[in-house]
Amino acid sequence: MGELSRKTSLQRVMRSSGRVPIECKCSQCKNQCKTVCLGTPEDIEKIIDAGYADRLALTHWAAGIFLGVINAPIPMIQPVAGKEYCAFFENGLCVLHDKGLKPTEGRLSHHTIRKDNFNPSMSIAWNVAKEWLMPENREAISRVLYKFLNERRI
Ligand code: SF4
Repeated sequence: MGELSRKTSLQRVMRSSGRVPIECKCSQCKNQCKTVCLGTPEDIEKIIDAGYADRLALTHWAAGIFLGVINAPIPMIQPVAGKEYCAFFENGLCVLHDKGLKPTEGRLSHHTIRKDNFNPSMSIAWNVAKEWLMPENREAISRVLYKFLNERRI
């Protein structure tokens, strides 16, 4: 069920953004990790299950207000920012990559698509953020929240 939901979320985001998973280790792509990428609820659950809850935080995605795609922030759990890069960026690489745990925005993002990201309805970030509002993901979101709070003892 979890894996099925994850595929469905990933497929939804791929369809809406017109993007497919891509790998690139160029400096432009690495620079994208100065801003944390967004994961779907299923992405975040897998990251918690892998023992990384301490690098996640409750947050509100407000960029959609500035993009004009929504009029309120979206609550979610996402990676935290480190001093310069995302907390998962170590020695020039994403530690989640080889574990198959990279969040959906990071999996689909590439240095060549920066201009496309300014098309609000096709923005990968917006399409991932929407997953936190979807009724289909309600169960997964409850599970993620429970696991996160339990791990962090908040
Ligand atoms: S989770 Fe990985 S790919 Fe996403 S911003 Fe952090 S280091 Fe980069």
